[in-house]
Amino acid sequence: MSDAVLSLAGVKKSYNKGLANEVNVLQGCDLTLNAGEVVALVAPSGSGKSTLLHIAGLLDEADEGSVTLAGTDMAGQSDRRRTAARREDVGFVYQFHHLLPEFTALENITLPQFANGVSPEAAEARAMELLTSVDVAHRASHRPAELSGGEQQRVAFCRALANAPRVLLADEPTGNLDPATSDTVFEALMTLVRGSGMAALIATHNLDLAARMDRIVRLEDGVLV
Ligand code: ADP
Ligand code: MG
Repeated sequence: MSDAVLSLAGVKKSYNKGLANEVNVLQGCDLTLNAGEVVALVAPSGSGKSTLLHIAGLLDEADEGSVTLAGTDMAGQSDRRRTAARREDVGFVYQFHHLLPEFTALENITLPQFANGVSPEAAEARAMELLTSVDVAHRASHRPAELSGGEQQRVAFCRALANAPRVLLADEPTGNLDPATSDTVFEALMTLVRGSGMAALIATHNLDLAARMDRIVRLEDGVLV
């Protein structure tokens, strides 16, 4: 047995199937992510990075192939099981933070823990610990609109890690930031991931950032190489 936390095998996905404008985005993707491994997903815009991450994170379903999360093949599972697995085992970060605007930074990180049955005291302690590790503890009571882009994204990372998922999926997490901010925010993400022992798959255009990860996979013509 390996310590694979996420495996994709023969994953295929097309849009507009059967229509004249059918696009075969993923044409048989295979990938194994082991615990503690940080992998860069590099490909030009429009090649299917988001599609792949959404399928891996159970936000979308493949047409063919399997997604195995923490040893369970998710393909045949009920929506309920998929939702529970997504909540417990997967952290997702988008290019834009997607924080809830009416809640504070702290609340954005405690809410997903409440959904998992964590007590308010424990959830707050966990949120503060995460915020501290990415140097935004002093912004805990601020709402997203009162934070800089880099701070918003760091809070979004904390939210994604709140329930200590086995795997973090990040879709161009620093793509919206200027280069200098992008660099420090990426370092914050790496600190969180390395401190947790989780696996991470991080889509990026930035080859400097990709080079700082353990391994690079490229999406070329619908397959991972
Ligand atoms: P990337 O994240 O690498 O930029 P995407 O996964 O977003 O790539 O998109 C891959 C291809 O699939 C693109 O050609 C895009 O236009 C197409 N696509 C993505 N989502 C849809 C959709 N919901 N319906 C039709 N085509 C889509
Ligand atoms: Mg994308």
